[in-house]
Amino acid sequence: MTSKKDVDVFSDVKRCSKCILPQTFPGISFDKNGVCKYCHDWEPVKVLGEKELEKKLQEYKNKGVEYDVLVPFSGGRDSSFVLHQMVKKYHMRTLAITVDSGFLTKEGFQNIETVTKALHVDHVWLKNEGKIDTSKQNCKIKFHGWLKKPSINTIVPVLNSGDKTMNLQMFQYAHDHNIPVVMGGNNIGNSIFEQEHWKTGFLGVFPNERGYYGPSDRLKLSFLFGVEYLRNPANFSFPIFKEYFKGASVYFFESFLKPNDVDTLGFYDYIYWDEKKILSTILKEAGWKGAADTTATWRVDDSAYPLINYMYHTLVGFTEHDEFYSKMIREGQLTRKEALERCLSDQKPRLPSLHRTFGELDVTKEQVDDLLEKYRTKLLGQIKGDYR
Ligand SMILES: [Zn+2]
Repeated sequence: MTSKKDVDVFSDVKRCSKCILPQTFPGISFDKNGVCKYCHDWEPVKVLGEKELEKKLQEYKNKGVEYDVLVPFSGGRDSSFVLHQMVKKYHMRTLAITVDSGFLTKEGFQNIETVTKALHVDHVWLKNEGKIDTSKQNCKIKFHGWLKKPSINTIVPVLNSGDKTMNLQMFQYAHDHNIPVVMGGNNIGNSIFEQEHWKTGFLGVFPNERGYYGPSDRLKLSFLFGVEYLRNPANFSFPIFKEYFKGASVYFFESFLKPNDVDTLGFYDYIYWDEKKILSTILKEAGWKGAADTTATWRVDDSAYPLINYMYHTLVGFTEHDEFYSKMIREGQLTRKEALERCLSDQKPRLPSLHRTFGELDVTKEQVDDLLEKYRTKLLGQIKGDYR
């Protein structure tokens, strides 16, 4: 549970008068009416449209041997919708694929089973037990290292230890099985709503509105993450070095390593991401279910996020939901009041998930809470707005 202290720390946080971003959000500033810079800079989401998508899909129909399209499928809401649309609306010969990197939640597993069954779609798993053991082990080492030298900048790289070669494995699978295109709605081609400023913003580096970092920002990020890596002696072990090195290589060279005969398409580049439509479709027609320990429906398939959100919420008083819902407000999908209510509810610590993760990481919640509270004092001193 959020302790009384946590509530008090951020109870008077100033938020944008239009969206709900708080003053602890990286890179934020407000005009005289209290409207934030992100609201001022917002460009309404544009998509290429259904006609363009249909045209594109025609190019791939009956081009593959057994399947026209490979859909990366995590069991999350957005990839469930893509799968549903490929099968039911566009009648593509579809194969769903999941790389199990060891960080799928039980809800993710359940949804993979029910949705593929409901849609009568073939599904394959790529799984490497050895890799899963290594990334779990690395995650534990990195987290214990983080506790000794906490940094807001490394929460995501430390906890999100999933397989960075996931996309490449799927491209290779498509290549090996003569599937001409990979249609993503999740880690490949996710919606504009998912492009996040909070992950690297505290380093002073921000993605553009499409979520991409320019070449110089990529170099800057690698340098800054390199510095973060070197600052923590816990990272000086070969498996951790190898993991970061591999992650960085894939980050820079993925497009060169992808087989040439496999194309990629982002579903949400063509079709507007509409939460109500997505949820009502997959709940009704694909048997999709949310998670029992949260009201949020985003990322219920990824076991790293309950803790990532918990840590952000404790340290800076916001989570990924604040940014997501702010974009929904700007797009007219939510009112400010609804967004605030949803944030309050979605941000409640997901205790069952958290305790499971703490168990896996071999720490107690008390240990983590103590540390977070100490680090918060230091961190808020550094952040504009001077919270304490
Ligand atoms: Zn705003």
